[in-house]
Amino acid sequence: MLPSAQDAPVLVQVREMYKSFQHGSRKLEVLRGVNLTVRSGEMVTIIGASGAGKSTLLHCLGTLDLPTSGEILFSPVGGGTPTDITRLPPPDLAEFRNRTIGFVFQFHHLLPEFSALENAMMPALIARTPTRQAREQAEEMLDAVGMSDRLAHRPGELSGGEQQRVAIARALAMRPRLLLADEPTGNLDTRTSAEVHELLFRLNLEHDLSMLIVTHNMELAQQMPRVVRMADGRILEGDGQDVDPSNEPESPLASE
Ligand code: ADP
Ligand code: MG
Repeated sequence: MLPSAQDAPVLVQVREMYKSFQHGSRKLEVLRGVNLTVRSGEMVTIIGASGAGKSTLLHCLGTLDLPTSGEILFSPVGGGTPTDITRLPPPDLAEFRNRTIGFVFQFHHLLPEFSALENAMMPALIARTPTRQAREQAEEMLDAVGMSDRLAHRPGELSGGEQQRVAIARALAMRPRLLLADEPTGNLDTRTSAEVHELLFRLNLEHDLSMLIVTHNMELAQQMPRVVRMADGRILEGDGQDVDPSNEPESPLASE
């Protein structure tokens, strides 16, 4: 985190989030009262054993899934009263997601028949951005991830690390306010993992991008500015609530 990020405005605040899944007649409680504050420009690393609820938390934050209860308060651009996105109707939710959230997963999910550039343009084209603008945005991010000399390559012609770079460029092409990365290096060798983490770290600094990164790699996590530890559907450490407990999301924004 940049030294100033501690005082940066709150971007999103998760309050008392619960999520359960029904397994036949049994209810599985996966998130059990999660509280988490993420400030603008913060890089947050999430660690925890398999099954702790890390992916579920990211899915709920990214509106790919709805929590069973709790609030996800997103501060609007430029400040003002935060919106509880769990209450948005589905069309608004999709619009919110397209404009606000970028996703990177363990497996890059690039489309094999399309070039790196076309893959990175895809979300913008789906959101009906004019082709030229979509191309410019994608090229700029591919450049930022060091892939500007691979624009015409298809995923099969790229290394694992390069594929993940393209996936990161695709996630950032729409200029999201929050990048959610779920074990983005889970499928990569040690050295390539370190390179991808280094890239994310640099993007965080240079683009003042807020990000939540789930990782299994403890060595890399230890080098990260803020680590959140999860176990059994709860956050044990690093929820950000202790930074300034009196801060309501609107107060730091109002003073801007
Ligand atoms: P983590 O990412 O920390 O490994 P997850 O959030 O993926 O953990 O999963 C936590 C628990 O929730 C696991 O026991 C998993 O089986 C369960 N779970 C996750 N997603 C679903 C789902 N869509 N339906 C049912 N159970 C799920
Ligand atoms: Mg997971």
